[in-house]
Amino acid sequence: MNFQKTYNIPIFIPHEGCPHTCIFCNQTKITGVQTRVTCADVRKIISDRLSYLPKNGCRIEAAFFGGSFTGLDLELQEKFLKTASEFSDRLDGIRMSTRPDYINKDVLTLAKKYNVRTIELGMQSSDNEVLRLNERGHRFEDTAAAAALISEYKISLGVQVMVGMYGSTPEKDVLTAADAARLNPECARIYPTLTLCGTKLDDLYRQGRYTPYDMETALTVTDKMMRIFEERGIETIRVGLHSDESLTGGDGICAGPYHPAFRELVLSRRERNRIEAEILRLDLKNCVYKAHVPCDMVSVTIGHKRCNAEYFKRKYNIILKTVSS
Ligand code: SF4
Repeated sequence: MNFQKTYNIPIFIPHEGCPHTCIFCNQTKITGVQTRVTCADVRKIISDRLSYLPKNGCRIEAAFFGGSFTGLDLELQEKFLKTASEFSDRLDGIRMSTRPDYINKDVLTLAKKYNVRTIELGMQSSDNEVLRLNERGHRFEDTAAAAALISEYKISLGVQVMVGMYGSTPEKDVLTAADAARLNPECARIYPTLTLCGTKLDDLYRQGRYTPYDMETALTVTDKMMRIFEERGIETIRVGLHSDESLTGGDGICAGPYHPAFRELVLSRRERNRIEAEILRLDLKNCVYKAHVPCDMVSVTIGHKRCNAEYFKRKYNIILKTVSS
């Protein structure tokens, strides 16, 4: 069946199943969920969302995010999966995110039984020293082994990687994307590291031992990582954290390259660089530049709040216009 759009129904289980808290993580802030989720909550979340999602022509999945799903007791995993499967006439599958070291044959057998379509592994980095410094409690070898086992069970793989973790560098981040791509995932999520108030990373930041990437570096590195995924046909389904009041409020993010439209900024910068290379090649200035772009590229070409148009005007006295095809 050819689906036009995929909808995830997110069910956040903040920190559930996690053996400890990684130094950058505060899932209650990231997800905005403060209480423990029950089966009744799962049922209500799915049913509420299904009531206004289209009935045909799209893929709908229930998605357990925000913790380490396969770190829950097997019994509780089964209860949640069984509850989600009550909606199997409307759901096309289930997806979940988890830690690489919590993948084994028991959890995959259970996942298969309940039509789990995708497992997203929070690999974060392929550099073992970065993983150690961030107190992840697993190594890249665990991610590679988990990816292989997931593929043996014919479940689709997603990878979640981070940009600018404590102890990382732009080079290590780009290498992480290349290593992640070699695991043959179907999709990827890229999260720039944000310093959340009250985390160990926040302490390191306040002690001057951690410097977050500035926005320019984060955009450049993320762009390189996205390109690596694109070249391998891996869809980057998310770039940057979603905007939530608990994250953007006073005691949410205290440092780091946050922007509610981070993905758009990355793509806008890519377009700016492409057009600027041409402007320099043709030695253009004081003119109108017409960029021929597809309709869906108009806004990223002009840039968020017209930032690219203003950049070219300021730097080259060039008026940027788009001609959409
Ligand atoms: S395993 Fe994931 S959800 Fe759990 S504390 Fe670490 S980053 Fe947060």
